[in-house]
Amino acid sequence: MESQSNAPLTQMAQMGHEQILFCNDPHTGLKAIIAIHNTVLGPALGGTRMWMYASEQEALTDVLRLSRGMTYKAAISGLNLGGGKAVIIGDARKMKNEALMRRFGAFVDSLGGKYITAEDVGMTTKDMEYIHMETEHVVGIPQTLGGGGDPSPVTAYGVYMGMKAAAKQIYGTDQLDGKRVLVQGAGNVGGYLIDHLVEEGAKVLVNDIFEDKLKNITNKYAHVEVVPSEKVMDLDMDIYAPCALGATLNDETIPRLKCAIVAGAANNQLAVEKVHGQQLVDRGIVYAPDFLINAGGLINCYSELEGYNQERALQQAEQIFETTTAVLNEAASSGKPTFEIANQMAERRIEDIAQIHRSL
Ligand code: NAD
Repeated sequence: MESQSNAPLTQMAQMGHEQILFCNDPHTGLKAIIAIHNTVLGPALGGTRMWMYASEQEALTDVLRLSRGMTYKAAISGLNLGGGKAVIIGDARKMKNEALMRRFGAFVDSLGGKYITAEDVGMTTKDMEYIHMETEHVVGIPQTLGGGGDPSPVTAYGVYMGMKAAAKQIYGTDQLDGKRVLVQGAGNVGGYLIDHLVEEGAKVLVNDIFEDKLKNITNKYAHVEVVPSEKVMDLDMDIYAPCALGATLNDETIPRLKCAIVAGAANNQLAVEKVHGQQLVDRGIVYAPDFLINAGGLINCYSELEGYNQERALQQAEQIFETTTAVLNEAASSGKPTFEIANQMAERRIEDIAQIHRSL
């Protein structure tokens, strides 16, 4: 028998979700879950992840956690969007075909626009095209199909803005020239972030696990220094920018970090939010919350809903500077971790807008 704390409705109630759609299609073998966390600010937007979950419970827990995160990201970014996410259970390399993707698209469509999907882990642009054949409620489609294409330039610009806001708080100026910045992960976002940093005259250090990714950077900028993975956490630097994987801020790494600021694109950088957010405060390291400063990707998707315009998306990503400043100021005066302040600001905005709707 299902233990009460794992039962879907109990989990929904604990995390504040509005709706879950369980999708099953015997013909294609599709098994998916769409979770809508909160639609107070607008339709729930969030990507679809295809993953070989060990159990249905694991898939459910993941989609509930991810959709909730999207609510906070949209709210703190000032977007009129709610939080949602979908997971398809299965091996993305073996199970995917046109019919399965279109069937999933039809399920998305059945929600009538309350949920808008996008690309996430295990999904490709081609999959999004199939989904788009069955529903209008999809973003992140290629520019050739009227979408916004790769969101990484906008994400990187937002991270850069968040980093500058943190620099202003620590150094009294947002100028990054001469600052030693380590970019961990020379992928899409990391690459564009390095462009901004080099242009401003920062001393850029880069680390990646793949030689070709590093070559892309050093061929472009001969003066960017490559750092081996085992040295990353012991490096003398001003700013650490995690742009690869999550959970790099943990019990093992935080005591070793020699930097004043952490500001990067990776999702879920704090291994355990409450524990490691506080450890950074105790060490006097300013942490620019990941879900706030990496919201450029979501902003790019949002822009697609209004007819894509990269200029407008970049302008909106620029606001991340002001929002990060507000979060860091409140954190400094209250002594609380920055992630906690950002969460509270997001909750405040949702509550304020909910009040307006209630009084109409
Ligand atoms: P990407 O896959 O293009 O780049 C990630 C890079 O990190 C790759 O070059 C990879 O080789 C490297 N890497 C992987 N493991 C590593 C390790 N242990 N040490 C060092 N390098 C390692 O991904 P991306 O689109 O640039 O996204 C980077 C991060 O930002 C991800 O965590 C992603 O979830 C997050 N993010 C991306 C966007 C976006 O718009 N692309 C938006 C929000 C958040």
